Amino acid sequence: MLTLLGCRGTTPVSGEKYIKYGGNTPSVFVPLNEQECLIIDCGTGINKINFSDFLTYKKYHIFFTHLHWDHIIGLPTFKVLYNSEAEINIYVQDKSLDYPFLFIKHLFNPPYFPVSHNMLKADIRYNLVKPGGTYNFGRVKLTSMEGFHPNKSLVYKLFFDNFEVVFATDYEHSRVDSELIAFSKNAKYLIFDTTYLPEDFEGKHDGISKKGWGHSTYVHGVDFAVRADVKYLVLYHHNPEYDDDALDDMLSQSKKIFSRTICSHDGMNLE
Ligand SMILES: [Zn+2]
Ligand SMILES: [Zn+2]
Repeated sequence: MLTLLGCRGTTPVSGEKYIKYGGNTPSVFVPLNEQECLIIDCGTGINKINFSDFLTYKKYHIFFTHLHWDHIIGLPTFKVLYNSEAEINIYVQDKSLDYPFLFIKHLFNPPYFPVSHNMLKADIRYNLVKPGGTYNFGRVKLTSMEGFHPNKSLVYKLFFDNFEVVFATDYEHSRVDSELIAFSKNAKYLIFDTTYLPEDFEGKHDGISKKGWGHSTYVHGVDFAVRADVKYLVLYHHNPEYDDDALDDMLSQSKKIFSRTICSHDGMNLE
């Protein structure tokens, strides 16, 4: 089972207009066994699981799609980092040898945050992910491909006992589309970046085209879902300017062309 702890893109939102789908930024949680769990991205969603729930785990595998703010902003307050009994394995894309260490050093550093990285108590280990590499965690396997996004991002695929889930957040339809279609072939769930309605992507209201910004529309999502023959398309990385009514509307538009569309919400379980 996989839980979507946060589904909002770009920046967290709150208020009564966002109650149905939630306002936390991306984070995905997968329990592996009594001792270990797997997490993808640490947006504000990561702090929505109580610390007491996390205490049951000793070993954490945290993969990052990329390091834009909305995907790391939950880290400074992620209490497991301050637990001396926890082992945390961080996985980021291979860019340069010291990159992962710099990333934590920058995040935990005054004046941005009062706690310096060398005050973290957990045993933190850094790993460089190469797209296409496979990781085996017993009942769950994980692999990745490089997406299309400013500063690059990774798309992950999780293999469970009897189904596969593709997590393609922060992905703009592009020259690597055929790779994503092959990568997602016959998956049960394609969780896809649908930040924009087509008219907003084209800039019909504000005159600004969003081409090259690294995000897609539900129409692109449907296209991938059909061509990859996935069972369900999951709308994800919700635009902070789209409230519950707007997302309801996007869902019904998407269902008209692909009936097996789901709109993700904070806390949603996929199994
Ligand atoms: Zn994002
Ligand atoms: Zn991004």
